[in-house]
Amino acid sequence: MDKYIVFGNPIAQSKSPQIHSMFAQQTAQVISYARQLATIENFKPSLDELFADPSAKGCNVTAPFKEQAAQWVDELSTGAQLAGAVNTIIRQANGKFLGDTTDGPGIVQDLLRLKAVNQGARILLLGAGGAARGALQSLLALQPSLLLVANRTESKAQQLASLIPQNNLQACGFSDLVAQTEPFDLIINSTSASLSGELPPIADNVIASCGFVYDMSYSDKPTVFLSHAKQLGVTRFSDGLGMLVGQAAESFYLWRGVRPEVEPVIAALRAEL
Ligand code: NDP
Repeated sequence: MDKYIVFGNPIAQSKSPQIHSMFAQQTAQVISYARQLATIENFKPSLDELFADPSAKGCNVTAPFKEQAAQWVDELSTGAQLAGAVNTIIRQANGKFLGDTTDGPGIVQDLLRLKAVNQGARILLLGAGGAARGALQSLLALQPSLLLVANRTESKAQQLASLIPQNNLQACGFSDLVAQTEPFDLIINSTSASLSGELPPIADNVIASCGFVYDMSYSDKPTVFLSHAKQLGVTRFSDGLGMLVGQAAESFYLWRGVRPEVEPVIAALRAEL
């Protein structure tokens, strides 16, 4: 049986084994998928050990090992090179290990599923951490008229935007957003503020005039950012549960060559939150 593992620390909370088991059942693929706790010291030896077993065909990697995984693999996809991080390792037919990142395709898949974005959209991306960096290239592939990265620490937003020099990718600090007179079609909150129940300090009118608000964080209740947007009159919004399932679906596709249906899996996870 082909074997897969997700590494992380902590890892007990990971929904990946459940998601991949649902994908496997749905597509009649016979695989095993387990979670494994690692440490900074034993992560790379754990990869060596896993892949010494020829039935191990790939693995997922979550925090805090995504950068180490990028160093371990033989080759990086262009997305992983740009992100400087790997969340999916694939054993290729030639025996080499490819590192890829599926967070970007995962969020784009979810935005398209939600009909949250069209070509030529004005997109505001809040935050400039790992999740924003991982999403950047995929968001640009949607051909927005503007992708504006705004971050609390403005220099990090500038640094991120400089990775892909093109006119429709710009950066600023939160306070500069008041100068944006044209509404955004989509705001994506990729800050970790929601995890601590905080709001990124964005002018209310920027949020109120937006067509769709997406928060990469998710929980059983609407995140503080989504509740705030709703109070301001925004009617179309979503949390990041679909992104989680979307990135897993992309990993599954890279390993198995089959695209699972995400809707039933999102619904099953939502019911259990
Ligand atoms: P990082 O730690 O790499 O980056 C955090 C970002 O949030 C930085 O830009 C930081 O700004 C900003 N930030 C933190 N606190 C605040 C605050 N109080 N106000 C404003 N900005 C703040 O985290 P990640 O990029 O890895 O993850 C970000 C979020 O995305 C998390 O909530 C995570 O759960 C979610 N996520 C969801 C996924 C999914 O599948 N749904 C996948 C990946 C991530 P500064 O630079 O100024 O410190």
